[in-house]
Amino acid sequence: SVSGGNRVFNFKLVLLGESAVGKSSLVVRFAKDQFDEYRESTIGAAFFTQVVPVDDTTSVKFEIWDTAGQERYKSLAPMYYRNAQCAVIVYDITKAETFERAKSWVKELQRQADPDIVIALVGNKNDLETNRAVTAEECQAYADEGGLLFKETSAKTGANVLELFQTIAKKMPLDS
Ligand code: GDP
Repeated sequence: SVSGGNRVFNFKLVLLGESAVGKSSLVVRFAKDQFDEYRESTIGAAFFTQVVPVDDTTSVKFEIWDTAGQERYKSLAPMYYRNAQCAVIVYDITKAETFERAKSWVKELQRQADPDIVIALVGNKNDLETNRAVTAEECQAYADEGGLLFKETSAKTGANVLELFQTIAKKMPLDS
């Protein structure tokens, strides 16, 4: 759409990852710049929109689908990632099994999602450095190999959250 010389490109973004890795907290940090220690977990999926400026005349508007990580909602995920142009796959840097789960989401998307989907792998909770179980180097190497974006974030402190979405926005195909 066009408004005052500004171009806004809309993209659907799906958040995937194990329950409790901080998917909802990341979106709330991004969309509202808030963090809530005690928020209730997402049932099914929640929807947010947020605009990210790319340059003086261009912005990206993300339509964010935050999916529930629980096993019982797993069969719903394809409904969200099938028409998504970007996916953010989140794990918790203090829980190795959540990184394994993230890798299986990557494989599923590489098989089933749009071949042009932009995938970002995100190690959240990097404020909990003393409990770290997954190194950034390992994940960076995995991401490089698969052509994925990679960031470590903290929804709690806000570290790298805006940068994550800005990096994704810059990767999106913005044709005039
Ligand atoms: P989701 O199930 O993946 O959506 O995870 P939530 O956003 O509900 O977060 C699960 C728990 O982890 C909550 O208690 C959050 O407060 C906490 N949490 C989320 N992000 C962070 C973070 O970056 N650092 C810390 N220390 N805790 C976090």
